[in-house]
Amino acid sequence: PAVGTVLLKAEHVIKRFGGLVANNDVSMQLKAGEVHALIGPNGAGKSTFFNMISGVDSPTEGQVQLMGEVMGDAPSRRFAALGLGRTFQHVRLLGQRSVLENVALGAHQRAHKGWMASMLRLDRGEEAALLAEARRQIERCGLGPYADVPAASLALGQQRIVEIARALASQPAALLLDEPAAGLRHLEKQALGNLLRQLRAEGLGILVVEHDMEFVMNLADRITVLEFGTVIAEGTPAQIQSNQRVLDAYLGG
Ligand code: ADP
Ligand code: MG
Repeated sequence: PAVGTVLLKAEHVIKRFGGLVANNDVSMQLKAGEVHALIGPNGAGKSTFFNMISGVDSPTEGQVQLMGEVMGDAPSRRFAALGLGRTFQHVRLLGQRSVLENVALGAHQRAHKGWMASMLRLDRGEEAALLAEARRQIERCGLGPYADVPAASLALGQQRIVEIARALASQPAALLLDEPAAGLRHLEKQALGNLLRQLRAEGLGILVVEHDMEFVMNLADRITVLEFGTVIAEGTPAQIQSNQRVLDAYLGG
């Protein structure tokens, strides 16, 4: 999609868990060629929203559109098929498998919407194509020298990048990252930030849920701030940093 195309749109999303309103009228858009950050204190509803926009769960009210399609309660594999890639808050790699194999699994999930069913039935040509695609994404992410080492032998920062490469192997237009910088060292955060800038320049739309304010402020084009399930501010990093409600939510509450 061309830069500026709306990839993902949430409109008036409400999510209730019994009496608790975890998302209360949340709207936002993610466009191709931008990094959009979703921030807010613990319990603000960030993960809940992430689940709504990746098909893990569906809204109680309101709607999510991906590539112009109203998603309703479509399963996450439908989101993936339409061009959504994601990573999870905690690293989910097969530690004893190579980086290449881990990334190839991502490509495989896109190629076969029910990947388990066909896992054992890949023909040689298909398998070669998946591995070639995986290798391409590993190179793209700067992990070429590590393709054949066990994923568990890499530092956390590199494992996070393997997860991004795996998400990229399904050739998404939109990438959702759940706290990608958590637990990373300074240089690892810089490497991650540089990769995300590169992917943005290549035209991806990237949504990050992130706690690390310095990381977010240096990277994001737009920021949405959630508090108690409600959007309390939206704007550029400069606007958000000088927003009194945001300062109160972080410092006053
Ligand atoms: P965040 O990711 O911003 O820390 P969450 O989205 O995890 O916030 O949680 C928002 C609120 O919704 C919290 O009060 C949490 O306890 C509640 N919540 C989240 N998931 C569920 C669930 N599956 N069942 C009940 N309550 C939930
Ligand atoms: Mg969370």
